[in-house]
Amino acid sequence: MNHSKNSRNAAYYAEGVLRGDIAVLSRAITLAESTNTANREMAREIIRRCGPSGKQTFRLGITGVPGVGKSTFIETFGLHVRQKGQRLAVLTVDPTSAKSKGSILGDKTRMQKLSAFEDVYIRPSPSAGALGGVTRVTYETIVLCEAAGFDYVIVETVGVGQSEVGVSRITDFFLLLMLAGAGDELQGIKRGIMEMADALVITKADSGNEKKAAAARAEYSRAIRLFQPHDSGWQPPVLVCSALADTGISEIDEMITKFRNLTMKDGFFAEHRRRQQLEIFREALREAVLTGFNDRFNVEERLRQLDAARQQFDPYAEVAKALRAAGF
Ligand code: GDP
Repeated sequence: MNHSKNSRNAAYYAEGVLRGDIAVLSRAITLAESTNTANREMAREIIRRCGPSGKQTFRLGITGVPGVGKSTFIETFGLHVRQKGQRLAVLTVDPTSAKSKGSILGDKTRMQKLSAFEDVYIRPSPSAGALGGVTRVTYETIVLCEAAGFDYVIVETVGVGQSEVGVSRITDFFLLLMLAGAGDELQGIKRGIMEMADALVITKADSGNEKKAAAARAEYSRAIRLFQPHDSGWQPPVLVCSALADTGISEIDEMITKFRNLTMKDGFFAEHRRRQQLEIFREALREAVLTGFNDRFNVEERLRQLDAARQQFDPYAEVAKALRAAGF
Protein backbone atom coordinates (compact mmCIF):
# COMPACT_ATOMS: atom_id res chain seq x y z
CA MET A 1 0.00 0.00 0.00
CA ASN A 2 1.23 3.44 -0.89
CA HIS A 3 1.47 5.63 2.18
CA SER A 4 2.57 8.76 0.37
CA LYS A 5 0.92 12.06 1.29
CA ASN A 6 -1.24 12.06 -1.81
CA SER A 7 -2.70 8.64 -1.17
CA ARG A 8 -4.23 9.81 2.07
CA ASN A 9 -7.90 10.30 1.47
CA ALA A 10 -10.63 12.40 3.01
CA ALA A 11 -11.69 9.53 5.27
CA TYR A 12 -8.19 9.32 6.72
CA TYR A 13 -8.15 13.06 7.44
CA ALA A 14 -11.69 13.19 8.83
CA GLU A 15 -10.95 10.30 11.17
CA GLY A 16 -7.78 12.03 12.39
CA VAL A 17 -9.50 15.39 12.88
CA LEU A 18 -12.37 13.82 14.81
CA ARG A 19 -9.83 12.01 16.98
CA GLY A 20 -8.31 15.43 17.79
CA ASP A 21 -5.00 14.60 16.12
CA ILE A 22 -3.35 18.04 15.85
CA ALA A 23 -0.94 17.05 13.08
CA VAL A 24 -3.81 15.84 10.91
CA LEU A 25 -5.90 18.92 11.78
CA SER A 26 -3.03 21.18 10.72
CA ARG A 27 -2.67 19.36 7.41
CA ALA A 28 -6.41 19.54 6.76
CA ILE A 29 -6.27 23.32 7.35
CA THR A 30 -3.34 23.58 4.94
CA LEU A 31 -5.52 21.87 2.32
CA ALA A 32 -8.28 24.45 2.91
CA GLU A 33 -5.72 27.25 2.50
CA SER A 34 -4.29 25.82 -0.71
CA THR A 35 -4.57 27.67 -4.00
CA ASN A 36 -4.95 24.28 -5.65
CA THR A 37 -8.60 23.48 -6.44
CA ALA A 38 -8.23 19.74 -5.80
CA ASN A 39 -6.79 20.41 -2.34
CA ARG A 40 -9.61 22.77 -1.48
CA GLU A 41 -12.17 20.21 -2.62
CA MET A 42 -10.44 17.64 -0.46
CA ALA A 43 -10.73 20.01 2.53
CA ARG A 44 -14.42 20.41 1.84
CA GLU A 45 -14.89 16.66 1.68
CA ILE A 46 -13.07 16.30 5.02
CA ILE A 47 -15.41 18.90 6.55
CA ARG A 48 -18.44 17.11 5.10
CA ARG A 49 -17.28 13.80 6.55
CA CYS A 50 -16.62 15.34 9.96
CA GLY A 51 -20.22 16.50 10.10
CA PRO A 52 -21.50 19.24 12.40
CA SER A 53 -19.84 19.47 15.79
CA GLY A 54 -22.19 18.04 18.37
CA LYS A 55 -20.76 20.33 21.04
CA GLN A 56 -21.82 23.86 21.89
CA THR A 57 -19.03 25.98 20.48
CA PHE A 58 -18.23 29.68 20.72
CA ARG A 59 -16.51 31.87 18.14
CA LEU A 60 -14.99 35.11 19.34
CA GLY A 61 -13.66 37.68 16.86
CA ILE A 62 -11.06 40.16 18.13
CA THR A 63 -9.79 43.15 16.19
CA GLY A 64 -7.82 46.35 16.74
CA VAL A 65 -4.94 48.24 15.17
CA PRO A 66 -1.39 46.86 15.40
CA GLY A 67 0.04 47.62 18.84
CA VAL A 68 -3.32 47.93 20.60
CA GLY A 69 -2.47 44.78 22.54
CA LYS A 70 -4.37 41.99 20.77
CA SER A 71 -1.91 39.18 21.29
CA THR A 72 -1.21 40.19 24.89
CA PHE A 73 -4.96 40.32 25.52
CA ILE A 74 -5.51 36.91 23.95
CA GLU A 75 -2.72 35.45 26.11
CA THR A 76 -4.33 36.61 29.35
CA PHE A 77 -7.93 36.12 28.25
CA GLY A 78 -7.09 32.72 26.80
CA LEU A 79 -5.73 31.56 30.15
CA HIS A 80 -9.09 32.48 31.76
CA VAL A 81 -10.98 30.56 29.09
CA ARG A 82 -8.69 27.57 29.46
CA GLN A 83 -9.02 27.58 33.24
CA LYS A 84 -12.76 27.21 32.84
CA GLY A 85 -12.13 23.92 31.08
CA GLN A 86 -12.78 25.08 27.56
CA ARG A 87 -10.60 23.87 24.73
CA LEU A 88 -9.17 26.91 23.02
CA ALA A 89 -8.04 27.45 19.45
CA VAL A 90 -6.63 30.81 18.33
CA LEU A 91 -6.61 31.69 14.64
CA THR A 92 -4.82 34.78 13.45
CA VAL A 93 -5.88 36.39 10.21
CA ASP A 94 -3.22 38.65 8.82
CA PRO A 95 -4.27 40.72 5.83
CA THR A 96 -0.73 41.98 5.30
CA SER A 97 0.95 38.63 4.84
CA ALA A 98 -0.16 38.27 1.22
CA LYS A 99 1.46 41.55 0.25
CA SER A 100 4.73 41.38 2.08
CA LYS A 101 6.84 38.77 3.81
CA GLY A 102 7.10 41.09 6.82
CA SER A 103 3.82 40.13 8.36
CA ILE A 104 2.45 42.02 11.35
CA LEU A 105 1.34 38.85 13.08
CA GLY A 106 4.19 36.69 11.85
CA ASP A 107 6.27 37.20 14.97
CA LYS A 108 6.98 33.80 16.51
CA THR A 109 7.23 35.20 20.01
CA ARG A 110 3.54 36.07 20.18
CA MET A 111 1.39 34.26 22.72
CA GLN A 112 4.25 32.31 24.22
CA LYS A 113 2.41 31.40 27.42
CA LEU A 114 -0.62 30.07 25.60
CA SER A 115 1.37 28.18 23.03
CA ALA A 116 3.15 26.31 25.83
CA PHE A 117 -0.09 24.46 26.58
CA GLU A 118 -0.54 21.32 24.57
CA ASP A 119 -4.31 21.60 24.69
CA VAL A 120 -4.32 25.09 23.12
CA TYR A 121 -4.08 25.27 19.36
CA ILE A 122 -2.63 28.41 17.77
CA ARG A 123 -2.75 28.73 14.02
CA PRO A 124 -1.47 31.70 12.06
CA SER A 125 -3.55 31.70 8.94
CA PRO A 126 -1.97 33.18 5.86
CA SER A 127 -4.42 35.39 4.06
CA ALA A 128 -5.47 33.90 0.75
CA GLY A 129 -4.83 35.95 -2.36
CA ALA A 130 -8.38 35.80 -3.67
CA LEU A 131 -10.98 38.29 -2.59
CA GLY A 132 -13.35 36.71 -0.11
CA GLY A 133 -10.74 34.01 0.38
CA VAL A 134 -9.84 35.03 3.91
CA THR A 135 -13.38 34.59 5.16
CA ARG A 136 -13.79 31.22 3.48
CA VAL A 137 -10.48 29.82 4.73
CA THR A 138 -11.11 31.14 8.24
CA TYR A 139 -14.63 29.71 8.31
CA GLU A 140 -13.42 26.30 7.17
CA THR A 141 -10.58 26.45 9.72
CA ILE A 142 -13.07 27.22 12.51
CA VAL A 143 -15.25 24.27 11.49
CA LEU A 144 -12.24 21.93 11.35
CA CYS A 145 -11.03 23.08 14.79
CA GLU A 146 -14.49 22.50 16.23
CA ALA A 147 -14.60 19.03 14.71
CA ALA A 148 -11.27 18.36 16.43
CA GLY A 149 -12.84 19.21 19.79
CA PHE A 150 -11.94 22.87 20.23
CA ASP A 151 -15.09 24.45 21.63
CA TYR A 152 -13.81 28.04 22.02
CA VAL A 153 -12.30 29.59 18.91
CA ILE A 154 -10.76 33.07 18.95
CA VAL A 155 -10.22 34.69 15.56
CA GLU A 156 -7.79 37.58 15.69
CA THR A 157 -7.59 40.05 12.86
CA VAL A 158 -5.74 43.31 12.35
CA GLY A 159 -8.23 46.16 12.23
CA VAL A 160 -6.78 47.94 9.27
CA GLY A 161 -8.57 46.54 6.26
CA GLN A 162 -11.50 44.53 5.05
CA SER A 163 -10.71 41.31 6.89
CA GLU A 164 -12.42 42.31 10.12
CA VAL A 165 -15.71 42.75 8.27
CA GLY A 166 -15.43 39.17 7.05
CA VAL A 167 -14.45 37.90 10.47
CA SER A 168 -17.45 39.61 12.09
CA ARG A 169 -19.62 37.58 9.71
CA ILE A 170 -18.32 34.25 10.94
CA THR A 171 -18.06 34.84 14.69
CA ASP A 172 -20.67 34.90 17.47
CA PHE A 173 -19.22 37.91 19.24
CA PHE A 174 -17.03 40.67 17.88
CA LEU A 175 -14.69 42.50 20.23
CA LEU A 176 -12.93 45.72 19.29
CA LEU A 177 -9.81 46.69 21.25
CA MET A 178 -8.99 50.41 21.44
CA LEU A 179 -6.24 52.58 22.87
CA ALA A 180 -7.06 55.43 25.22
CA GLY A 181 -6.42 58.94 24.00
CA ALA A 182 -5.30 58.03 20.51
CA GLY A 183 -8.29 59.44 18.66
CA ASP A 184 -10.36 57.50 16.14
CA GLU A 185 -8.45 58.69 13.09
CA LEU A 186 -5.15 57.83 14.66
CA GLN A 187 -6.38 54.35 15.35
CA GLY A 188 -7.60 53.94 11.81
CA ILE A 189 -10.83 52.52 13.13
CA LYS A 190 -13.68 53.20 10.83
CA ARG A 191 -17.07 54.01 12.25
CA GLY A 192 -18.44 50.93 10.49
CA ILE A 193 -16.15 48.66 12.50
CA MET A 194 -17.24 50.32 15.75
CA GLU A 195 -20.85 49.79 14.76
CA MET A 196 -20.25 46.09 14.20
CA ALA A 197 -18.58 45.56 17.57
CA ASP A 198 -20.50 43.75 20.31
CA ALA A 199 -18.17 45.34 22.86
CA LEU A 200 -15.34 47.85 22.99
CA VAL A 201 -12.39 47.32 25.27
CA ILE A 202 -9.88 50.04 26.17
CA THR A 203 -6.52 48.32 26.64
CA LYS A 204 -3.42 49.09 28.74
CA ALA A 205 -5.27 50.63 31.71
CA ASP A 206 -2.22 50.41 33.96
CA SER A 207 1.01 52.23 34.89
CA GLY A 208 -0.60 55.65 35.26
CA ASN A 209 -2.77 55.22 32.20
CA GLU A 210 -5.90 54.40 34.24
CA LYS A 211 -7.45 57.90 34.17
CA LYS A 212 -7.05 58.23 30.43
CA ALA A 213 -8.63 54.79 30.01
CA ALA A 214 -11.61 55.77 32.17
CA ALA A 215 -12.09 58.97 30.17
CA ALA A 216 -11.95 57.04 26.91
CA ARG A 217 -14.48 54.61 28.29
CA ALA A 218 -16.94 57.41 29.06
CA GLU A 219 -16.36 59.01 25.66
CA TYR A 220 -16.87 55.79 23.68
CA SER A 221 -19.89 54.81 25.78
CA ARG A 222 -21.55 58.07 24.73
CA ALA A 223 -20.53 57.60 21.11
CA ILE A 224 -21.84 54.08 20.66
CA ARG A 225 -25.17 54.83 22.29
CA LEU A 226 -25.92 56.87 19.16
CA PHE A 227 -25.46 53.85 16.89
CA GLN A 228 -28.27 51.69 15.58
CA PRO A 229 -29.25 49.05 18.14
CA HIS A 230 -28.01 45.55 17.32
CA ASP A 231 -30.42 42.91 16.00
CA SER A 232 -29.80 40.93 19.16
CA GLY A 233 -31.12 43.78 21.29
CA TRP A 234 -27.70 43.79 22.97
CA GLN A 235 -26.29 47.18 23.92
CA PRO A 236 -22.51 46.96 23.34
CA PRO A 237 -20.69 47.86 26.55
CA VAL A 238 -17.33 49.62 26.84
CA LEU A 239 -14.86 48.09 29.28
CA VAL A 240 -11.28 48.73 30.31
CA CYS A 241 -8.54 46.23 31.02
CA SER A 242 -4.88 45.64 31.44
CA ALA A 243 -3.75 42.39 29.93
CA LEU A 244 -0.32 42.77 31.53
CA ALA A 245 -1.72 43.27 35.04
CA ASP A 246 -4.64 40.90 34.40
CA THR A 247 -7.21 43.46 35.52
CA GLY A 248 -10.63 43.73 33.92
CA ILE A 249 -10.11 40.50 32.03
CA SER A 250 -12.49 38.34 34.06
CA GLU A 251 -15.13 41.09 33.75
CA ILE A 252 -14.78 40.86 29.98
CA ASP A 253 -15.07 37.10 30.16
CA GLU A 254 -18.20 37.44 32.30
CA MET A 255 -19.70 40.01 29.92
CA ILE A 256 -19.17 37.70 26.93
CA THR A 257 -20.59 34.76 28.87
CA LYS A 258 -23.63 36.89 29.69
CA PHE A 259 -24.12 37.65 25.99
CA ARG A 260 -23.71 33.99 25.17
CA ASN A 261 -26.26 32.87 27.77
CA LEU A 262 -28.77 35.59 26.87
CA THR A 263 -28.64 34.93 23.14
CA MET A 264 -28.74 31.16 23.59
CA LYS A 265 -31.82 31.51 25.73
CA ASP A 266 -33.73 33.83 23.43
CA GLY A 267 -32.72 31.98 20.26
CA PHE A 268 -30.64 34.78 18.74
CA PHE A 269 -27.43 32.75 18.92
CA ALA A 270 -28.72 29.97 16.66
CA GLU A 271 -30.59 32.42 14.44
CA HIS A 272 -27.40 34.48 13.99
CA ARG A 273 -25.40 31.42 12.93
CA ARG A 274 -28.18 30.36 10.57
CA ARG A 275 -28.15 33.81 8.96
CA GLN A 276 -24.38 33.68 8.70
CA GLN A 277 -24.71 30.40 6.83
CA LEU A 278 -27.04 32.06 4.32
CA GLU A 279 -24.43 34.78 3.76
CA ILE A 280 -21.61 32.28 3.46
CA PHE A 281 -23.66 30.33 0.92
CA ARG A 282 -24.28 33.50 -1.07
CA GLU A 283 -20.59 34.43 -1.09
CA ALA A 284 -19.36 30.93 -1.81
CA LEU A 285 -21.81 30.63 -4.69
CA ARG A 286 -20.64 33.92 -6.16
CA GLU A 287 -17.04 32.74 -5.91
CA ALA A 288 -17.89 29.36 -7.46
CA VAL A 289 -19.90 30.86 -10.32
CA LEU A 290 -17.11 33.33 -11.13
CA THR A 291 -14.43 30.65 -11.01
CA GLY A 292 -16.59 28.31 -13.10
CA PHE A 293 -17.27 31.01 -15.65
CA ASN A 294 -13.61 32.04 -15.91
CA ASP A 295 -12.64 28.40 -16.44
CA ARG A 296 -14.91 28.21 -19.47
CA PHE A 297 -14.73 31.67 -20.96
CA ASN A 298 -11.67 33.85 -21.50
CA VAL A 299 -12.96 37.30 -20.62
CA GLU A 300 -9.65 39.04 -21.24
CA GLU A 301 -9.34 37.51 -24.68
CA ARG A 302 -12.86 38.61 -25.66
CA LEU A 303 -12.11 42.14 -24.39
CA ARG A 304 -9.03 42.23 -26.58
CA GLN A 305 -11.01 41.09 -29.62
CA LEU A 306 -13.73 43.68 -29.07
CA ASP A 307 -11.16 46.40 -28.57
CA ALA A 308 -9.20 45.42 -31.67
CA ALA A 309 -12.40 45.57 -33.77
CA ARG A 310 -12.56 49.33 -33.09
CA GLN A 311 -16.35 49.38 -33.40
CA GLN A 312 -19.32 50.30 -31.30
CA PHE A 313 -21.04 47.25 -29.85
CA ASP A 314 -23.87 46.32 -27.49
CA PRO A 315 -22.26 45.35 -24.14
CA TYR A 316 -25.36 43.52 -22.95
CA ALA A 317 -25.62 41.45 -26.10
CA GLU A 318 -21.96 40.51 -25.56
CA VAL A 319 -22.76 39.39 -22.02
CA ALA A 320 -25.56 37.17 -23.31
CA LYS A 321 -23.20 35.70 -25.93
CA ALA A 322 -20.49 35.10 -23.33
CA LEU A 323 -22.94 33.33 -21.01
CA ARG A 324 -24.15 31.10 -23.87
CA ALA A 325 -20.59 30.31 -24.88
CA ALA A 326 -19.79 29.27 -21.30
CA GLY A 327 -22.92 27.11 -21.19
CA PHE A 328 -24.64 29.16 -18.49
P1 GDP B 1 -0.97 43.68 18.90
O1 GDP B 1 -0.10 44.18 17.80
O2 GDP B 1 -2.30 44.33 18.86
O3 GDP B 1 -1.05 42.17 18.96
O4 GDP B 1 -0.30 44.18 20.25
P2 GDP B 1 0.65 43.41 21.28
O5 GDP B 1 -0.13 42.48 22.14
O6 GDP B 1 1.80 42.82 20.54
O7 GDP B 1 1.15 44.62 22.20
C1 GDP B 1 1.80 45.75 21.68
C2 GDP B 1 2.62 46.38 22.78
O8 GDP B 1 1.79 46.85 23.82
C3 GDP B 1 3.62 45.42 23.43
O9 GDP B 1 4.80 46.10 23.69
C4 GDP B 1 2.92 45.00 24.70
O10 GDP B 1 3.82 44.64 25.71
C5 GDP B 1 2.17 46.26 25.06
N1 GDP B 1 0.97 45.90 25.84
C6 GDP B 1 0.02 45.00 25.54
N2 GDP B 1 -0.91 44.91 26.50
C7 GDP B 1 -0.54 45.80 27.46
C8 GDP B 1 -1.10 46.18 28.72
O11 GDP B 1 -2.11 45.66 29.19
N3 GDP B 1 -0.44 47.17 29.41
C9 GDP B 1 0.68 47.76 28.94
N4 GDP B 1 1.24 48.70 29.70
N5 GDP B 1 1.25 47.41 27.77
C10 GDP B 1 0.66 46.45 27.04
